[in-house]
Amino acid sequence: MSNNKFKILIVEDEPTICSFIYTLLDTNGYKTYVAPTCELGKSIFTSYLPDLIILDLGLPDRDGLELIHYVRQKFMTPIIVLSARTTEADKIEALDLGANDYITKPFSTGELLARVRAALRLNRFSSNPTGVFQAQDLLIQYERRKVYVGGEEIKLTQTEYNIVAFLSEHAGRVMTYPAIVRAIWGDTDCGSTKKLQVNMANIRRKLGSRPGHNNYIMNELGVGYRMIDADHDGPDAPADHEENA
Ligand code: CA
Repeated sequence: MSNNKFKILIVEDEPTICSFIYTLLDTNGYKTYVAPTCELGKSIFTSYLPDLIILDLGLPDRDGLELIHYVRQKFMTPIIVLSARTTEADKIEALDLGANDYITKPFSTGELLARVRAALRLNRFSSNPTGVFQAQDLLIQYERRKVYVGGEEIKLTQTEYNIVAFLSEHAGRVMTYPAIVRAIWGDTDCGSTKKLQVNMANIRRKLGSRPGHNNYIMNELGVGYRMIDADHDGPDAPADHEENA
């Protein structure tokens, strides 16, 4: 590639945060654009078609959600929402509108860079993955539809395997319950959500049968599930949020 720099658009009105992220991304080799308003964000997006958007929701002219809606009318460009809003409803709304990930302020530089790398991998995966996925002790061989933990094969049902493979294709990013249900069963009725919970409980039990190896799939409580990032989530990965469902 003659120009292999990924282009990233930051839409954020707080100058301190903006310049912090700009400097971080710039020094990590990304071509970075900045927009302090939603309208300017739209205009820069249209002009430069960045590979990734980092989006603040609290913008002076409009709600950042409007930019997600605008972009998703035509493009699958990954969007990471960056916001001080922390309620589950806010996260769900942003993810359902088509945001790929959600980071709550304050965040660490390591976390932001890991999420950026994960989001940029979006276009590297197809719906029929080939090769292998590996994260810590977890290994998936896509062609053989086999899953191993610590070298030992884990017996999964077809549905359980499909869920694990789907989450691994999007590793590092939160997949909402409706998104997973659509991908696996093609519908979104309440029964499917219950089926997902049952399958997920079985998957987590099967993958986590060894002490200290229960964190391949994070439950982002009330939002969805996230498989750990193949390259970047190590022992310091955020603690799992267990639910009582
Ligand atoms: Ca703001």
